[in-house]
Amino acid sequence: MSNRYFGNRAVVIGAGMGGLPAAQVLASYFKEVVVLERDILPTDATPRPGVPQGKHPHGLLAGGLKALSDLFPDFSSTLVQAGAYSLDSGREVCHEYPGQEPLPIRSLGVATFTMTRPLLELAVRRRVQENANVVFRDGCRVVALGATPDGNAVASAIYKTLSGELEVLPADLIVDASGRGKLTLDFLKYIGHPMPEETVIGVDFGYSTAVYTIPPDATPARKVMITMPRAPGESRTGIVLLREDGKWFAALGGRGADTPPADSAAFTAYAASLPTSSVYDAIKYATQHGGIERFAFPESRRLHFSTDNFPRGLIPIADSVCRFNPVYGQGMSAAAQEAVVLRDLLEAHAGDADPLAALSGEFLSAIDSIIENPWSLAALPDLAYPDARGKRPPNLEKLIEHHMAITKAAHHDPDIHKQLIEVLNLLKPVSALQAIEIVEKVTGEEVQNPTASA
Ligand SMILES: Cc1cc2nc3c(=O)[nH]c(=O)nc-3n(C[C@H](O)[C@H](O)[C@H](O)COP(=O)(O)OP(=O)(O)OC[C@H]3O[C@@H](n4cnc5c(N)ncnc54)[C@H](O)[C@@H]3O)c2cc1C
Repeated sequence: MSNRYFGNRAVVIGAGMGGLPAAQVLASYFKEVVVLERDILPTDATPRPGVPQGKHPHGLLAGGLKALSDLFPDFSSTLVQAGAYSLDSGREVCHEYPGQEPLPIRSLGVATFTMTRPLLELAVRRRVQENANVVFRDGCRVVALGATPDGNAVASAIYKTLSGELEVLPADLIVDASGRGKLTLDFLKYIGHPMPEETVIGVDFGYSTAVYTIPPDATPARKVMITMPRAPGESRTGIVLLREDGKWFAALGGRGADTPPADSAAFTAYAASLPTSSVYDAIKYATQHGGIERFAFPESRRLHFSTDNFPRGLIPIADSVCRFNPVYGQGMSAAAQEAVVLRDLLEAHAGDADPLAALSGEFLSAIDSIIENPWSLAALPDLAYPDARGKRPPNLEKLIEHHMAITKAAHHDPDIHKQLIEVLNLLKPVSALQAIEIVEKVTGEEVQNPTASA
């Protein structure tokens, strides 16, 4: 923690899973941190309109838990007290691949928790609220960012209250965690800064989710069971996941025209058509609570901001920079990892004569590698679908083959299994799966080490 303040006020736009960790970080470097949130924030763990995805299952990867624990000491205890269930990834998460036995149950030392998204968000928000200098103003929708007269920096957040009044809140630093990046893009356009390039992968993914009480004799074998699709031909996928209230989420997904349905009978029939039977077996005699929630996710989108002379004091973060295909459960974890990067940069610049001078550009450069990891993990299986839109790497088939070979090898090799689960949980970079020892084990061929022969 630093006592050297960077400025009087930082503003965070959005009290979601990007904004909350950012507010926690900023609390140590600004006299006041104001979180502006358009929703009225609930006092319990219920979904809210500004986070419509909160009605769907949200997995917190072990890499995300690690980042949150870096920012909120003893965060696991916070989750346990909130009612979340611990989750040993090697023993209690099952990925079922069509035509293959599930990976064996092994203790891999990769641990996280299972809970609903609203519970996780509430737990994080309560920890942020422990900071006396963080103020939450809910019911405040930011409509624009104000610029300094020279147009080189942000100066204020302009927001509308529930009663329709416009207010201007001056700030030394503004974090755009509104989930879309629109405020940042509008601001860049307004001041004439180059607009970012975009990388897009069109996936046209549809979700349907229902909540069930599952009878004891049908309780799934593990706390999270994921049926992987028969890619590349068929895209149907499903998951059952234990919630903190003892009920289960069942979610179905499909691509293009094959979106899962919204009525109960058709939902069960779609579950019965999945490559493995675990989702169907769990729900066929279960009691459904409430209706079926749907979500359409057309594309993953990554913005490449030009970091030269990026406006001073402006920090877009989390989904405002990159929206990942949610099926891989990476967005919240990447957001927490980005907040850790922000903290490290703030600490590195504490004591500088002008600590905000280069911060924004450095932050955007530094999070590029954080984003690249989940992005490349998701791009590979997404681009395997012939209908997916996006630029395919020339060696896509080879990369997919290598990944499939690793998954197969993980059955009989505990080290490869551990490495795979650590990479999928964002604990290690994807390059760990290209390590010479792994390639040799998977292919059975010796690899010449270029550095050794040099
Ligand atoms: C169906 C679905 C399932 C998902 N499953 C997972 C999963 O399993 N695991 C995972 O890690 N991620 C998952 N994600 C992704 C995850 O939800 C996001 O990556 C994450 O929430 C991003 O955080 P954020 O702060 O950028 O946005 P959000 O968490 O969405 O928060 C944005 C906040 O900004 C507020 N806001 C918006 N505009 C304004 C404004 N103008 N003024 C003030 N406030 C504003 C909103 O109300 C909201 O509170 C899923 C996403 C979807 C769509």
